[in-house]
This record gives sequence, C-alpha cells and structure tokens, in this order.
Amino acid sequence: MTDLLFPPRPRPVLPVAGGGPAFPVARIFCVGRNYADHAAEMGAEIDREAPFYFTKSCHHLLPAGADLPYPPGTADLQHEVELVAALGAPAVRVAPDAALAAVWGYAVGLDMTRRDLQAEAKAKRRPWDIAKDFEGSAVIGPLVPAADWGPPGPQTMRLAVNGTPRQETRLSAMVWSLPDIIAHLSTLYRLGPGDVIMTGTPAGVGPVAPGDRIAAGVEGLPPLALRIAPPL
Ligand code: MN
Repeated sequence: MTDLLFPPRPRPVLPVAGGGPAFPVARIFCVGRNYADHAAEMGAEIDREAPFYFTKSCHHLLPAGADLPYPPGTADLQHEVELVAALGAPAVRVAPDAALAAVWGYAVGLDMTRRDLQAEAKAKRRPWDIAKDFEGSAVIGPLVPAADWGPPGPQTMRLAVNGTPRQETRLSAMVWSLPDIIAHLSTLYRLGPGDVIMTGTPAGVGPVAPGDRIAAGVEGLPPLALRIAPPL
C-alpha cells in the first residue's frame, strides 16, 4: 500500500438498528424542494421537470448520539427532518420500478442548514455548499433494513423542538417519490453501495439554539434525538 503523509480520516459509518455490521457511508445526496408545503414556505417554485440535488461530504456525518455544536458563520441554524435511504447495491440508469431493489435500508435524518448563508447564496446566485455542507450537518439515525421497513408511503414523519411540534407530514406527500429520485439520480451518477439519499423536508423548518433538543421520527423507524451544544 502507498505510504500516507498523515492518517486518513476514518470512514464514517451508520449503525444498524439491533446491531450487526455497520454501513460504511460513501456519498450523501440531498433532494431539494421535495415537499410542496416546504417549497411554498421558502417562497420557491417546485420544478416539475426533474428533481434537483446538492451533496454533503460523508465526513460531515454526525455520529448517532453526538451533540451538534452550534456551527460557525451563522445566526440561523435550522432543522429539516428527512427520510434517508441508504443504497446497498449498484443503481445505474435504473427504471423507477426497479429502483427500490438498490435500497439496503432506511433511517431518519436531519439536513441541518445555515439558512442565512443559504438565503445569501440564493440571492447572489452562488452554490449552496457552505449553507448545507458543514461539520455535523448530516445527522442520520440507525438504519433499518429495507426488508423490515418500507417502501415509503403513508407513514408519518415528525419533528419537535423542546417538545413543541414543528414539522409533520406523510411521506406520500413527496413531490418526487423515492423510486423516481433513485431512477433520476442514477442517470447522473453511477450509484452504488454506501451512497445515501436524503429525500427532502416538509414545511415547518425553523431555527434552533444551543441547548435545544430536537426529536425527529418516522413511523416505524428508530427515533432520532439531537441536542444543539454551545459553539466550539
Ligand atoms: Mn433538506
């Protein structure tokens, strides 16, 4: 093996509910504007032509149970609860009716967002990276195998902050269904094991502050709890 100048960052993994080998995470794809009520609250139009995406580094995954220090550079950190699909098989130019065969499992996730930086990026027609892709911004709970949960449909998804409900939807309210998303994304990338998709958030996104506790859940999946810690 080639000598390395310094130790590489460890490969981030997701635990599997109930134990067993962990899921090594490769790429994290996120779908934008996939619930009409959230697009409306952001003052955005839904593009019915095709879904659109942004990405997060796998190194920005927050380990389950860890606190998220309030990130730098923002005064408006916001929560977005999302269903997460984790792929365990190749998906290259797959048809929607074959797409779910590539899904290894599902989890509850939080697409944490520096909303003020996103608004500035939108206004200046700049990329969203610094708003969406920062340390700890991809919070994902334990995976449940697809054999034990799914497909996404009528299940409810919820988020509360300090016990106050903020977001609630049925997964069937997605503009682009998970099979549609995987099929479309598989025309743009050679998807494969380890790739993870965050499927978008419904209305009710909002700010959090140090000390806040987020509780997020999807019916039938292990709940996800996150405490916002003081800045580092
Ligand atoms: Mn999102």
